[in-house]
Amino acid sequence: MTRKLVCSFLFGFQILLIMLVAISTADAQSSPQIFEVIAPPICQNSRGEIVRFETRTSQTAKSAAGMAKNDDNGKPVIYRFSYERSPAALQKFVDMHECAHHQTGDIDLPHPPRNSPAHMMNESIADCIATLRIRDEIDNGASRINDAAQALASAMAVVGFPKITIDSRLSNINNCRLKDTTADDFINGVLAHRGLK
Ligand SMILES: [Zn+2]
Repeated sequence: MTRKLVCSFLFGFQILLIMLVAISTADAQSSPQIFEVIAPPICQNSRGEIVRFETRTSQTAKSAAGMAKNDDNGKPVIYRFSYERSPAALQKFVDMHECAHHQTGDIDLPHPPRNSPAHMMNESIADCIATLRIRDEIDNGASRINDAAQALASAMAVVGFPKITIDSRLSNINNCRLKDTTADDFINGVLAHRGLK
């Protein structure tokens, strides 16, 4: 009788131990690293209006994500999702990328079909402007671009983007950082091409 009790106790302890290990493993997998959220940059759209930034909650965004649009009153806005889930360099890159959609007039033009060449071109241009602004406007800009590109690549891999898509985005960023032009000149070129300037 005594022996049976001891055995039950040991058995129960073993189960408890397994449960504790399982809980702590699950905890490590499900609780993401939390980062401090940076202040948004100055951003003006192609009509010279100040763009406001708003933090929005998202259940699905596993890394910093943004959305540029005009709100119901026609005012330019950038929504920031899950910024606390990505390092500062990527937060900055997303802010600058979304701002670029306002700076180039993308938001005021009809949206091209999703994943069409015109859409991909708009995304490449926004990445390029973000890269030039970070390079020229921020201390240690060159290394910030490296940090942002690394964080971007791993965030895209987590979401399931194919390697070829990630590589071509990084190569566009690398080409842009070497451009002998400022973000303003680049933006003016895009606006002139679109007949917006
Ligand atoms: Zn974009």
